[in-house]
Amino acid sequence: MRIHHPEWFKITLPHDKIFYSIKTGIKRSGLHTVCEEAGCPNRIRCFSLKRVTFLILGKVCTRNCLYCGVTKGTPDIVDKNEPVRIAGFVRDMKLDYLVITSVTRDDLADKGAGQFAAVIAEVKKERPGCRIEVLTPDFSGDMSLLKTVLSAKPFVFAHNIEVVKEFYPRLRPGGRYSLSLELLAQAKEMNAITKSGIMIGLGETINQIKATLKDLKHAHVDVITIGQYLPPGKEAPAVRKYYTPQEFNSLKVKAQSMGFRQVCAGPLVRSSYCQVEVTE
Ligand code: SF4
Repeated sequence: MRIHHPEWFKITLPHDKIFYSIKTGIKRSGLHTVCEEAGCPNRIRCFSLKRVTFLILGKVCTRNCLYCGVTKGTPDIVDKNEPVRIAGFVRDMKLDYLVITSVTRDDLADKGAGQFAAVIAEVKKERPGCRIEVLTPDFSGDMSLLKTVLSAKPFVFAHNIEVVKEFYPRLRPGGRYSLSLELLAQAKEMNAITKSGIMIGLGETINQIKATLKDLKHAHVDVITIGQYLPPGKEAPAVRKYYTPQEFNSLKVKAQSMGFRQVCAGPLVRSSYCQVEVTE
């Protein structure tokens, strides 16, 4: 059954030359992007702006978050050439900003932290000056793995809280709300620019959203994204509420008044939708 979203989701943008070169470049490279794998509605806009979010460490996740469309099961073998291949893409496409994320790899001894660090290092070598944002899993709370990633000096460290605390047992059973906050707080302790994101529309209350923002502020998060949850497939939980652009704006004003340094909120906002403008 086709899902009909409210009219503010309808966007018409021209497909330009840059869009096509990025799209065909991704296909040719054989690399995975969240943009394509998740069928993100922002691809025309982002590719035209030369924004891409690479998904590293395979396409199969070891966790089972209900709101996420990534395949779950036995994960892929780690591609040791992935860092070099991504760096080549960034160099050839002349990207100036890059987001790297991964599936959760609880099966790996280092939970994938080394691959994040290797991608950062290779991109820096091939395209010095390209700002790299990493969006990582929680590394099961192993702060030494966080250090591994931050030692490679990404521009931004992001880890999404994803949903309000009350939904963790049902929607994010492999995660822990307090552990995600701790990871973000520790990243700040290690002097990173930090970022987190929340999806709304799953049935949470406004007070629960505000409590989440308060907890993220308490963890000294710099940048926050708030976007509309859209089900990735028929099995995923249904949308309980479509927030209007006005309601997103009210949440943005609220978050700004709480002191976040950058707030990106709107129906189509995804964690990697806005480039981080904050500098140290
Ligand atoms: S919002 Fe993120 S995932 Fe979606 S197209 Fe843009 S960069 Fe890709």
